Amino acid sequence: MLILVTNDDGIHSPGIVALAQSLSTVGDVVVVAPDRERSAIGHSLTLHAPLRADEIRPGFFAISGTPTDCVNLGIHGLLSVKPDLVVSGINRGGNMGDDLTYSGTVAAAMEATLMGVPAFAISLESPTFRLEDFTVAAQFAAGLAQTVHSRGLPLDTFLNVNVPVGKLAAVQLTRQGKRRYSDKVEKKIDPRGRAYYWIGVGELGFEDVPGTDFHAVSNGSVSITPLHLDLTNFRSFDELSTWDFNLQQAE
Ligand SMILES: [Mg+2]
Repeated sequence: MLILVTNDDGIHSPGIVALAQSLSTVGDVVVVAPDRERSAIGHSLTLHAPLRADEIRPGFFAISGTPTDCVNLGIHGLLSVKPDLVVSGINRGGNMGDDLTYSGTVAAAMEATLMGVPAFAISLESPTFRLEDFTVAAQFAAGLAQTVHSRGLPLDTFLNVNVPVGKLAAVQLTRQGKRRYSDKVEKKIDPRGRAYYWIGVGELGFEDVPGTDFHAVSNGSVSITPLHLDLTNFRSFDELSTWDFNLQQAE
C-alpha cells in the first residue's frame, strides 16, 4: 500500500512525523506537506503562483503551498504511481462540527476524494499536544489505514477522524455537531496609531448532543464522521420549491 501523507500544520509538526512513522509500519509512505503552518486555509488551491517542492529528506517533500496543493502535486507530479490512500494529519486540535470547511487538514482528504483516492483526515483534541498523545492517535491511524485499504470506502466518501487524549473509550460513527462561536473580535492599536483586529480569539463552545463528533470526543471516544462533498441541503427543496423566483428578462 502506497500512502501519501499530508497536513496543514506544516511538514515539521510533531503530528505528521508521528503519523508518517506509524503508517510506515503498514505501507510505503511519502510525505508531501506544506513547508509552514497552513491551518484554517480550507480548500484553497494556488493557481497564480509557482509551487516549489523541496525534498528535505528521502520521501519528505516540503511544498510552498496549501494542503490541497500538496495532494494535487503529490498525486499528479511527485509520485510515479497513484497512491492507494491519502491520510491528512495528525492535526494539532480537533476538526469538528461547523469548523470543517475552515480546515486545511479536512480539505486535503476532500481533494484526494475528488481525485478518486480513498482518504481520511485525523485530528487530535488535546490540551497539551505532547508527543505521546500523537502516538496513540498515530497507532489508531495505522489500523484505520489497513481497514480502509482492505474494505474500501463507500462511493464519494471520506472519513473525518477526531481522537481525544488519554485511554480511548470506544470508536463511534458520528455526525457533524454544532459549534457555538464567540462573537469576540479583539481590537488593538498598533505603534503607529492604526487599529488592527484579531478574529477567532474568544472561547469556543459546542452543543453537547449525543451522536455528534463533539459529544464522542468529549466523552473519550474516537469520532469517525463519514463526509461527502455534496453540500446540497435536500431537506430545503420542499420549502424552496414554493418560492416564486421572479425571473425577469429583457424582451
Ligand atoms: Mg492545523
